[in-house]
Amino acid sequence: MGLSIRQAIKVASYVAYHKLKGTKRFPLVLMLEPLFRCNLECAGCGKIQYPEETLKKRLTPDQCFHAIEECGAPVVSIAGGEPLIHPEMPEIVRGMIDRGKFIYFCTNAILLERDLDKYQPSPYLNLSIHLDGLEARHDHSVCRDGVFKKAVEAIKVAKERGFRVTTNTTVFEWDDPQEMRDFFDYVQGLGVDGMMISPGYAYEKAPDQAHFLAREKTKELFREALRDRHKYNFNHSPFFLDFLEGGREYACTPWGNPTRNIFGWQKPCYLMAEGYTETYRELIEETEWDNYGTGNHPKCAQCMVHSGYEASAVLEAFGSMGGLVDMAASVFNPKRRPRRAGRGFKDGLDVPEQVIEAARRGEIVRETPVPTDAASASCSIPTDEVPETAKITRRTPSGKLDQTTTINV
Ligand code: SF4
Repeated sequence: MGLSIRQAIKVASYVAYHKLKGTKRFPLVLMLEPLFRCNLECAGCGKIQYPEETLKKRLTPDQCFHAIEECGAPVVSIAGGEPLIHPEMPEIVRGMIDRGKFIYFCTNAILLERDLDKYQPSPYLNLSIHLDGLEARHDHSVCRDGVFKKAVEAIKVAKERGFRVTTNTTVFEWDDPQEMRDFFDYVQGLGVDGMMISPGYAYEKAPDQAHFLAREKTKELFREALRDRHKYNFNHSPFFLDFLEGGREYACTPWGNPTRNIFGWQKPCYLMAEGYTETYRELIEETEWDNYGTGNHPKCAQCMVHSGYEASAVLEAFGSMGGLVDMAASVFNPKRRPRRAGRGFKDGLDVPEQVIEAARRGEIVRETPVPTDAASASCSIPTDEVPETAKITRRTPSGKLDQTTTINV
């Protein structure tokens, strides 16, 4: 596991505290987006397409500190946009460390070497570098040549200066399992402290909607790509990797990674924007949580993203003595795979597996048109037809048909 012992102990004791206290919903990672402005225009991202007046806005350091104090999560992921563009970012990072929070600082690394002197290495600070694959693959993903070389150089310099460095990788339909393993070998050879991987989510505003992965394809791809996963240092719980391979079935835990950005607290999760609240308490109390997650909402149909499902895995691992023993066995024997494949987990209970057989893809969920100059020529914008209804089929853990519903999307 790429997670530091210090961080694992902090998260485990935090989960135990809330379980003993009987807190129904509590956050594990605050997804903080202090700005949407970026210095790249990636085809798989939905942020840079906002209008100029939105891109000019940023959260102040005090707003960022208020967000972490309001929700109390032990970990904060600082994303964006590109956080290094934010002029007060060193102050925000220092303030989070002073509050004892573990930070994943998500950057494309273009400006990292320039700005590294403004930050101090700390066991609380993980520089999380966006790398979607080896050179050709990554530069295609970010729609600009030369970014891979720049990011790799920045990783080497940051490691030399004593920073903790992890990578974060989004996997798309076109990815090849062997190329993914070559990439893992390369990145591990750079001496990083852990790798994060996740299937992409079809953001409504992302220009390239055609290449996001569907669930069955995701499981197939990860089963193959992770077949030697014991060789690699992933920054995920073993249960989440089992989930990606299809070995565990989880209900989403959207409240586990609440999102605070320039609009407020985003309902219900980092990936979907179904409205905003002013306070964290309003987010928790006013969101109809049961309406979301795979099987409950068409926009969730194909989602297996870590910001929704890693929390489910962590809650299972740290939420009971049985979970802890199961996880310890997986950590000490990385070749181990779960025996109870196909079961579900939600708020500590097994739930029926839910399958959406036909759901809309991302193409028709946009509320506003995306400007066609949002992506460079190498990044395609698809036009294929999509169904207008979704058939949701719920099955019991043994596979028996429970209920079928057709909904308009
Ligand atoms: S399934 Fe995905 S999109 Fe839906 S609520 Fe969970 S994290 Fe968000």
